[in-house]
Amino acid sequence: MLLIKNGRVLDPASKTDRELDLLLDGGLVQELRARGEFGSPGAARIFDAAGMIVAPGFIDLHAHLREPGQESSETILTGTRSAARGGFTAVCCMPNTKPVHDNASITRFIVDKAGTVGATRVWPIGAASVGSQGEAIAEIAAMKEAGIVAVSDDGKPIATARLARQVMDYCRSLDLPVIEHSEDVSLAAGAVMREGVTSTRLGLRGMPAAAESVCVSRDVQLAELTGARLHIAHLSAKASLDQVRWAKERGLRVTCEVTPHHFTLTDEDVTYDSRFKMNPPLASREDREALIAGLADGAVDVIATDHAPHEPALKEVEFDRAPFGILGFETAISLTLDELVATGRISLSRMVELFTTGPARVLGIERSLAAGQPADVTVFSTSHPWTYNVNDSPSRSRNSPFDGRTFRGAPMATIVAGNVVYQRQP
Ligand SMILES: [Zn+2]
Repeated sequence: MLLIKNGRVLDPASKTDRELDLLLDGGLVQELRARGEFGSPGAARIFDAAGMIVAPGFIDLHAHLREPGQESSETILTGTRSAARGGFTAVCCMPNTKPVHDNASITRFIVDKAGTVGATRVWPIGAASVGSQGEAIAEIAAMKEAGIVAVSDDGKPIATARLARQVMDYCRSLDLPVIEHSEDVSLAAGAVMREGVTSTRLGLRGMPAAAESVCVSRDVQLAELTGARLHIAHLSAKASLDQVRWAKERGLRVTCEVTPHHFTLTDEDVTYDSRFKMNPPLASREDREALIAGLADGAVDVIATDHAPHEPALKEVEFDRAPFGILGFETAISLTLDELVATGRISLSRMVELFTTGPARVLGIERSLAAGQPADVTVFSTSHPWTYNVNDSPSRSRNSPFDGRTFRGAPMATIVAGNVVYQRQP
């Protein structure tokens, strides 16, 4: 039993925003009562959340845990510890492991390993095509049986419109979401950042925003053709968001996510430091502004980290040669508080939606603190001052452009199935 006392419970699903105490037992939410009304139930451990927000467990819809195959960059153990430290209670892991997660034996490996060593829940995403090669459809039904929650060829788009259509048709019958890394690879070929004044100044090959939006257009039209549930990953361009808005107006089952780095940084922040290299690359100021508008007005459904660890030896090379991607778990809440909430662009309640009901809706599940729901809880502070030191991270990798940044507001405790898996020391 765990009693979370004195906090402000913020649960968008039940439209709750008030001071309540929360009793967890047997892995489930038991009851919410007015502050102090539980007294002191003898057997319960007490967590004092005075001055903190108590929210349903945050879900990260987009992460790379690198296991199996790239354990020198991350493992299910180290990645979920990092996720817990970032306030996440569940993490969806992308299938671009080595080998690619395109069959049920790898699904079972991930589910079993996560059940043994995972600090958080792990919900695997299976490949859409065999080896994510874009030629033949993967064993999606068998992977679903084994526990996948979505399919994606993330790292790249589903290679052809023909195969994307086939995958969407198939996933519609299985009621699984298709998550697309929308990118026209011919427009993006050889590029390492966004095309623009900065790429010219740095002498780095750039890709235009259209490298993303052209493919989003394809994917949205295929979602209309097939009736599939389509989720656009790490959307970075205004033109892409316009496509998603169009799809939503037509009533299509299309959703999208934005990463903290895309609403925080722009291509003007890029230097030759490979910690600013990710895909999609940091976009223009105008794009960033459009993303923030979409996060505020509901066009964007989810904040997801795209946590993409690369061991230092891989990432500490010339910008051109470095792999794409940065760490994301441990700075996501603080960046959102700093960049979106403290600036008045979104409310705290909207923030909680973007990390809870938003991703839950994409996955077709519920996420709330109602009695009987899983006892997954994220406790965070909007004022706790701290400095992110990447060397303190349980992650195996160090590739964050936010190392050394000072924040106001932080994850304070992460509770999975009623167990405190992370607690920030004051
Ligand atoms: Zn991707």
